[in-house]
Amino acid sequence: MKNRFSLLTATVLLMAFQLAHSQVFDQLFEQGVMRIDLVFSGTAEETSYALTGVKKEQFYSGPHSRLVDPFDYGDHKFVVKDKASGEIIFSQSYCTLFREWQTTEESQTLRRAYPHVLRFPWPLASVVVEIHDRNGEGAFILSWSATFDPASIYTDPGSPYQFETVDLEINGSAEEKVDILFLAEGYTADEMDKFIDDARRSAGYIFSEEPFKSNRKKFNIRALKSTSLDSGTDIPGDSIWKNTVINSSFYTFGIERYMTTMDYKSVCDVAACAPYDQIYILVNTDKYGGGGIYNHYSISAADNLQSRAVVIHEFGHAFGGLADEYFNSAVAYNDYFPLEVEPWNPNLTTLVDFASKWKPMMSEGVPVPTPAEEAYIEVVGVYEGGGYVAKGVFRPMIDCRMHTNGAVFCPVCSKALKKMMARVTGL
Ligand SMILES: [Zn+2]
Repeated sequence: MKNRFSLLTATVLLMAFQLAHSQVFDQLFEQGVMRIDLVFSGTAEETSYALTGVKKEQFYSGPHSRLVDPFDYGDHKFVVKDKASGEIIFSQSYCTLFREWQTTEESQTLRRAYPHVLRFPWPLASVVVEIHDRNGEGAFILSWSATFDPASIYTDPGSPYQFETVDLEINGSAEEKVDILFLAEGYTADEMDKFIDDARRSAGYIFSEEPFKSNRKKFNIRALKSTSLDSGTDIPGDSIWKNTVINSSFYTFGIERYMTTMDYKSVCDVAACAPYDQIYILVNTDKYGGGGIYNHYSISAADNLQSRAVVIHEFGHAFGGLADEYFNSAVAYNDYFPLEVEPWNPNLTTLVDFASKWKPMMSEGVPVPTPAEEAYIEVVGVYEGGGYVAKGVFRPMIDCRMHTNGAVFCPVCSKALKKMMARVTGL
């Protein structure tokens, strides 16, 4: 009886807590999304932002509480402040392809521009939006800010696309679940049945593995029938160029397997047709490749024999902010993780501030660094090699889904993914 009373009390308290939070949300925001379109431009040394437009989108699918990002992962974050009070009412950390480009050789001598998009719930009153970029010392510094009035006549409520959404699995309301939206890329109108099969199979890959498998009910999965004029994607190394809805391509930064899109504006224009927390771009090709950028998008080939491993790995980047734990494959980056700075990613350390990482998960007596020997094969330790370099950057396990991509997520990656689920769902 006592237990039942406690359970009832806890339930009532939780409901009161949630009601209080939704009332706070309702005082600040209404249905919809304020979308700020910008362009980045710059070189390796500098970044500048310029505004290109403001839109009102239909679907905000994030939580109605926990609106300020508790993790501050990523190379960037944006902060939304109520203009009248100065109070922070929303923030989100993220990464971009532009920032990756800034670590390539080309950015030393060339200036490029990339589109960029920020999204947050539609505010009831004027807001100040700030973009903070992480500097060489690992700290966020203010790069850009502007004031936005929700009553402005210069807000575009239109969407260039009206693609059909197919619900693959709905486990609850969008604000209470992690909403994954599969976008069709390089599928013609005649290939949409194939796309739905591919999206269903790809979602199955993610949820075939822990920690996603036992937490499946925390997710909603949808697929958007975004049609392209051509089938396939660009393969510049083979002189193949296709007209596709979000302009994806292999050979990003000269790396054949690195398939991305620089056209993030088109990604968001397409995705605006449905609710989402995570965008998964499924590309109609059997060529090996893909990419995953934290709180930006995941992308992978639908039909490659290794697609299962790639789909799960890339989602680890985009959803969990997980870094690559490998150091033995060609990449285009130089000094991606400066050795004098603790990386923000939860699954790498330079030992500059290891106490802030997975040190509490290590058993007593495990040496730091830990030798990559048979005796430690299943042991959480500090193994040298990760983040594209063999020296100075350390990973938590000898093998992991983020290392060779032949193993499952290590306990450190798994914990980080579960923390991200809790952030979005509250559970
Ligand atoms: Zn790992």
